[in-house]
Formats: sequence, C-alpha cells, structure tokens
Amino acid sequence: MLAASDLLAPSPEAVVADAPAAPAVGVRQAEKAAYENNKLHKRLCRQVGQAIGDFNMIENGDRVMVCLSGGKDSYALLDILLTLRQRAPIDFEIIAVNLDQKQPNFPADVLPAYLSKLGVKFHVENQDTYSIVKRVVEEGKTTCALCSRLRRGILYRVADELGATKIALGHHRDDILETFFLNMFFGGKLKSMPPKLQSDDGKHIVIRPLAYVKEADTSRYADIKQFPIIPCDLCGSQENLQRKQIKAMLRDWDKKHPGRVDSIFSSLSTVVPSHLLDRNLFGFQDLQVTGDAMAEGDIAFDEEPCSTPTLMPGVIGMRAVD
Ligand code: SF4
Repeated sequence: MLAASDLLAPSPEAVVADAPAAPAVGVRQAEKAAYENNKLHKRLCRQVGQAIGDFNMIENGDRVMVCLSGGKDSYALLDILLTLRQRAPIDFEIIAVNLDQKQPNFPADVLPAYLSKLGVKFHVENQDTYSIVKRVVEEGKTTCALCSRLRRGILYRVADELGATKIALGHHRDDILETFFLNMFFGGKLKSMPPKLQSDDGKHIVIRPLAYVKEADTSRYADIKQFPIIPCDLCGSQENLQRKQIKAMLRDWDKKHPGRVDSIFSSLSTVVPSHLLDRNLFGFQDLQVTGDAMAEGDIAFDEEPCSTPTLMPGVIGMRAVD
C-alpha cells in the first residue's frame, strides 16, 4: 500500500535528473536571502542609531527600560538596542520589562525563557489589570483606554523602582503617521507621537528609537529572527477601528502613489509655523514689515512651488540609498 510520503517523494529518475541543478539554485537563493537579511539588519541599526542621535535619546550612563510586550516591534527594539550598545561609544544599561496583565492564556514563560537565553537583565511585573478592566468597563464598551492608563501608571512606577532614566517604547514610523492622521481627522489637532518626550507625570523621559523604522521592516525582521511572538488579542478586545482605517489608507497611498507617505513623514520634521494658522506658534498679531527680503515670506498670488521634498538622508528615501 502506498503511504502519503511515497506520493510526495520524487521518482529515482527525477532525483538523478535534478541532482546537478538543485544545489546551485538552492545555494544562490540562500546567499541572496542572507544578503537581504543582512541589509535589513544594517538598515534597522542605521535608522535606530540616527533617531537616537537626532533626538539625543540615550546618553552616557543611562539606564534604559525597554518595554517588552511580546509583540514584533518591542522584540525588534530590544534586539537592535542590544546590537547598538555593543558598538556605541557611550556606556548605557538595558533592562527589559514585561507587564504580565494576567490576560487569559498569556504564556508567562515565553519572555523569561527568551530573555534568559539572551542573557539580558529583565523584570516581569505581575499586575492583574485584566480583572480590573473587566470589572469596571461595561460589557461591549472598549477596554483599551482604561487598560492603557493602568499599564502606563504601573510602568512609570516600575521605572522608578528600577532607577531607569529612560523608558523605551517600540512605536515605529507607521504608528507615528497613523497617530498624526488620527489626531488630524478625529481630534482637530496637528500632532503625532513624539520620538522623545517627558512623561505625563513629569518624572520620566519616554523615547521611541524605532521612530524612523517602517513597520514592514520590523515584521520581516521578526520573521527572520523568529521572535517568540505573543499574540496581542488575548484580552479579546478589537483593534481600534479608526486606526485600522488610517492604516489601510496609508497602505493604499503607498501602493498607488510611491513616495507620498515618505514625503508626509518628512514634513513632520520640516514644519513652517508662519505658514500655518496657529497664533501660539507664530506672532501674527505683532507682525510688522522689516524691509528685509525673506525666503519664507509670502509669495502673494504665485502658486507655492511643489518641489521634491528633502527626504531625510538614509531614513526615508531608502529605496535610493539601500
Ligand atoms: S487590546 Fe487589550 S491589552 Fe491591549 S490595550 Fe486594549 S484592552 Fe489592553
């Protein structure tokens, strides 16, 4: 009787006929994959290094608490920071912190096993916020607002207890862009998620070293490194619908209009307050003529020249510099 494996096995003739070509093709593919993977690792290191430098995120003697959720982005953040620490001319410490919120089926042993194998200092904070959220929030209402508020408070306390000088989060370029459009579309504000800012309790500096990194790159990196991903839907909550729509809009733009999303991201670091309408950012009330020509002055009825944006070197115009 034939077994399934017999049906899948090539005939002896086929093996002989394929024998000389197969290894050559396989080796070439493996070499190409290794080259691409190495290029991705280099790009991530370069972009994270550049963001750290541009915003002075990490200084000599810092103790950086890396918040590790078990998602692809936080794994990538920790991995790249560990690489950069080995090469950095400054000395800083890394402590990985995971908050076990006691969600049903949370695999509590996955992160400690991964971190112990890496030899990274870590702390797991056990706090049952899941029960609190379930008790307080009405059935059918979104739980994320309360859950994140509780998480934030706990992480700040843990940062204090660990003596952390910086709290590093795994938000990337796509998170920054999505937040920018969410605020604009639904909040009437021109603001996003900053690469570095004081925490709302005024006691910590929060940093986002993946600020220049595309989500597609953290996804691919997570696949390559085979990070032990912990699914983020254990709490049973739905992903924010508005964020989902914005994500789809940006993906669509990127497909249909290559370069548009890069240009938008670039614009976030090239703000011209005199050409917006915020009276707190520019002194329209006191504006007087100076008699001096100024490049950024009004050009009256002329159309604004729509020049090619100055993309941040090595960060956004990546297709050109890779
Ligand atoms: S998805 Fe679940 S764990 Fe994440 S913030 Fe919302 S309620 Fe909390």
